[in-house]
Amino acid sequence: MSPSSLLGFSSTSSNPLVPYGWDAGWEAEFTLHAEQGLVPGRVIRVDRGLCDVIASAGTVRAATEFVVPRDPMKVVCTGDWVAVDPEGGDPRYVRTILPRRTAFVRSTSSKRSEGQVLATNIDHIVICVSLAVELDLGRIERFLALAMSSSSGEALLRKSADSWESGAQPLVVLTKADLVPDPVGLSYLVRDVETTAPGVPVLAVSALTGDGLDVLAAAVAGGTSVLLGQSGAGKSSLANALLGEDVMGVRHTRDVDGKGRHTTTTRNLLVLPGGGVLIDTPGLRGVGLWDAENGVGQVFAEIEELAARCRFHDCAHDSEPGCAVLAAVDTGALPERRLDSYRKLMRENQWITAKSDARLRAEIRRDWKRKGAEGRAAAAAKRGRRG
Ligand code: GDP
Ligand code: ZN
Repeated sequence: MSPSSLLGFSSTSSNPLVPYGWDAGWEAEFTLHAEQGLVPGRVIRVDRGLCDVIASAGTVRAATEFVVPRDPMKVVCTGDWVAVDPEGGDPRYVRTILPRRTAFVRSTSSKRSEGQVLATNIDHIVICVSLAVELDLGRIERFLALAMSSSSGEALLRKSADSWESGAQPLVVLTKADLVPDPVGLSYLVRDVETTAPGVPVLAVSALTGDGLDVLAAAVAGGTSVLLGQSGAGKSSLANALLGEDVMGVRHTRDVDGKGRHTTTTRNLLVLPGGGVLIDTPGLRGVGLWDAENGVGQVFAEIEELAARCRFHDCAHDSEPGCAVLAAVDTGALPERRLDSYRKLMRENQWITAKSDARLRAEIRRDWKRKGAEGRAAAAAKRGRRG
């Protein structure tokens, strides 16, 4: 296939990128790049300076070296929409990353401002909790806090800075529901988790029997999802159930690259048959093992340390006299961007406090009720078509 044939592109429903999440917003973002003869694609895998990009003509192997090097936040990541140069040899070049709507960022060290981006442009964070063991509500809470903060901890990468609702939405899935055969007991468990996570949808699902899968499939159909949870929580089984095959175990897909050759690709980004996209990277797999235990406060430990030296113990680091945080920004010791991220994290942490705020809780619940109803309607329509 010639490079120019990669150029034929439109946003009609026949556009092969639509199942990957391409929409009018991305199309608009891409206009200028299209004028420069670049082609859009979504990164489905990254390793050692190379990435696999799904473009309209198939999978393209691209080098990432022209994207601002040495800034980990600007390194191409699975989930990114990028502009690829169709000219030149193999590998081609990623010329730019389209502005990320959300990014799941792992803070590599509390002393450093940079983080490691694990996945980008995520809409749903699915927190998997096994019903095979006693529910640990505190752990669920920590996972939620992690989901909320990590998807938006970096101001740079946030589309709408003022509202967490525009970021990734958390969803709790109680897995292995078949192990709780008593429906009343199961509904109590679901309610316990709902109380812990106000406004967050809670589903009971069994990958084994398929119970609840249609509701989950409908909930994740409209975007890009990641599965979080402890090892053994049932993430792989759930992913396989959603994908309808053992793709997570055997993920070697034969792809045609831009030159018509077949290449073997391990994808970390997969299109779900019921709609939507699932991202599963080795980095995300480890998420349950780190931050959720450490607590989110440590992500901005250096600001917390500074804050302890502010004149007022309830200092908002806004314009207060004797504010050690603002002083550090003034001297350049603390990047302003970092403070902005911290402020957003704090705002988003108010979500946790929403537990004691009935108004906010009602608001969040209304939103999710609406989404839940849409999901159920979609699932019912699907059943109707089948039956
Ligand atoms: P992961 O580590 O989170 O990816 O978890 P796995 O998907 O590997 O599942 C861990 C264990 O739980 C495996 O032994 C699975 O067979 C089992 N498991 C997963 N889903 C279910 C389920 O729906 N029902 C039951 N009974 N067992 C399950
Ligand atoms: Zn202060």
